[in-house]
Amino acid sequence: MSRAIDVRHLGRERVICAHEVDGMVVDPGPASSVDALLEALGGEAPRALLLTHIHLDHAGAAGVLTRAFPSLTVYVHERGAAHLIDPSRLLESARRLYGDDMERLWGEVAPVPAERVQALAGGEVVEGMRVIYTPGHASHHVCYLHEETGEAFVGDVAGVRLPGSTYTVAPTPPPDIDVEAWLASVDEVAALSPTALCLTHFGRHEDVSEQLERLRTGLRERAELARTMGPDEFAAWSEAETRAAVGDEEIAEALLQAAPPETLGMGLRRYWEKREQ
Ligand SMILES: [Zn+2]
Repeated sequence: MSRAIDVRHLGRERVICAHEVDGMVVDPGPASSVDALLEALGGEAPRALLLTHIHLDHAGAAGVLTRAFPSLTVYVHERGAAHLIDPSRLLESARRLYGDDMERLWGEVAPVPAERVQALAGGEVVEGMRVIYTPGHASHHVCYLHEETGEAFVGDVAGVRLPGSTYTVAPTPPPDIDVEAWLASVDEVAALSPTALCLTHFGRHEDVSEQLERLRTGLRERAELARTMGPDEFAAWSEAETRAAVGDEEIAEALLQAAPPETLGMGLRRYWEKREQ
């Protein structure tokens, strides 16, 4: 069975979870929390990194880790590969969202040497993992099914849901949100009949079909609301809804850190604008 590693992003628990399985790490998190990851690994070099997608909260530490462990292989969807090797466009796009807060949030985003990157299309089996292409949250998103245990490492596809609550937020940052593609990806994950869903935000959950249904319902509801609300209005609604639904202040703060409300309406607005073109 896989091990969930809380990297304690910005010192807070239950925000970003790396998963260790068979000596590999799925989504190491950002460089700003890499010390907690290395401590949990006990100084052992991981055999490989499996990235679900290249968003900095999932993959930001990949470059720093390949520098520390020069033989590390990094698996990533082919649409994301170039941005690991040269992160300048990724950083530009992230800076539009996070502005001056980039360094504090994510730390160093070092390039990954091209020879360490293994690009994936989806459909292949690597390192005992079946790879499934799962766009919708991001165009460069894959999920990994561990064939031996049936655990699925789903990145952001099954939503943001923290231990202690079942409330689920569909994380919808710009620029790639595609609601129909996302719902189709959820169906692809469901068709694998995983024994557990391993979420980056946060942890391992065995109520697989219930969790996937929470994501479907939440994503549809949020997309519909964002059709008429501006991004600021949506952010205020989302934050209030999260606090009310979760009921626990610590969990709510962690959830708001994992899926910042100000980014959520922007991504859905962009989705609707593309649809109307
Ligand atoms: Zn993401």
